[in-house]
Amino acid sequence: MFGQPHHYPFRRALAEMEPYVPGEQPQGGKFVKLNTNENPYPAAQAVVEAICSAATTGLERYPDPYANAFRNRAAEVLGLPGPDWIMAGNGSDEILTILVRALVGEGQRLRMPYPSYILYATLADIQGALWERLEFDKNWRLPAAFADGCDDLRLVFLPNPNSPSGTVEPPEKVLQLAEQLPCPLVIDEAYADFAEANCLSLVQQNENIFVTRSLSKSYALAGLRFGFVVAQPHRIAELMKIKDSYNCDTLSIAAATAAVGSTQWLQENVARIRATRTRMEARLKQLGFRVTPSQANFVWCEHHESSHKQIYQTLKRQQILVRYMNFPAWGDGLRISVGTDQQVDACMLLLEQCV
Ligand SMILES: *Cc1c(COP(=O)(O)O)cnc(C)c1O
Repeated sequence: MFGQPHHYPFRRALAEMEPYVPGEQPQGGKFVKLNTNENPYPAAQAVVEAICSAATTGLERYPDPYANAFRNRAAEVLGLPGPDWIMAGNGSDEILTILVRALVGEGQRLRMPYPSYILYATLADIQGALWERLEFDKNWRLPAAFADGCDDLRLVFLPNPNSPSGTVEPPEKVLQLAEQLPCPLVIDEAYADFAEANCLSLVQQNENIFVTRSLSKSYALAGLRFGFVVAQPHRIAELMKIKDSYNCDTLSIAAATAAVGSTQWLQENVARIRATRTRMEARLKQLGFRVTPSQANFVWCEHHESSHKQIYQTLKRQQILVRYMNFPAWGDGLRISVGTDQQVDACMLLLEQCV
C-alpha cells in the first residue's frame, strides 16, 4: 500500500547531514529562560499597536512583497542611502538561507570561524556545499588564514559579535578581511545593537560585504520572525530573485516598521541589558568562572573545577535554563543570556550552590 519499502527519495545531501537542533523552547511559563538570548523585556508598545492596527485593516490581501514600509523606515533610521540597500526576511535565519542559496553551489565551499553559530554548517549541508571551520585563538581572535583564498570558496560567514563568545572584530579589521577575501563576506550582526561598534557603514565601501540584522534579540521580537540584510543595491536585486514573494507577512512588516522606528525604546533597552551584563560578569568571576568579556546579550563562561554539564543540569532541575555548549575538539562551557536583574540574581544564587 505504501509502495516499495526502503527507497530513499531525498537528495543525497540530506541523507548525510545531521539536523540543526535549536535551543530548548519549553512551551509553558515556569522556566527562567536564559538559554536562547531572547530579550527578557516585552517589545515596545508601538509594536503591539501596529500589529493590532494592521490586523484590523485587512489580512485578506497579500502583503507588500518588498516590505517597503519597513525598508523606507529602516533606511532612514540606519542612515543608508535608500531602501534598495535592504531586503527583509522571515527572521535573519531566512536571510542566511537565501544568501547560501544565492552564492554557493553544490560542491562549492564556505567558511566560518569556530566555535560560532552552528546553523551555518547546516545551511551548507542542505545546499550540498562544502564547509570549513577555522578556529579562533584562545582570545577569540580570528586566525590569519581566515582571510586566505582557496579553490571554490564562495562565501565567508563572520558573526560579529560572535556567539557563543560575545566578542567583536573591530570594523577596520573586518574591512581588511573583506578586501583580502576572493568572495562575499556575510557579517552576521544579530547582536550588534548591544556592541560598541558595528560594520553597517562598510557596505558602502565594498560590494562584497553583506550585513545581516535580526529583530529577535535587541528588539525583543523573537516570536515575530523578522530580519534583514544590507548590501549594495545591485547585490540586493539578485537576492530578491531567490526569496519567496511573500516571505514577510502583513503583521510582521507593520510590527518591524514600528520597532525600527522606536529608537528611544531600543536605546533604553540596550542600556538596561548592558548594565545587567556588567553585574553578571562580575558575579560570575567571583564564583570562579573564566568570563569572556561580552559585547552581546549573553555571557560565555567556563569553570575550571566544576562540570559544565552538571551545572546546566542542576540549574535545569530548578527551572533555570542556560545553554550548555560542547564544541567537539575545542571544549565546552556555558552560555548564559542576560535576563532581567531578578532572573540573573536567581541564576547566580543557584550557581553559588553548585560550583
Ligand atoms: C539568533 C541568531 C540569528 C537568528 O536570528 P533570527 O532573526 O531569530 O532568525 C542569526 N545569527 C546569530 C548569530 C544568532 O545568534
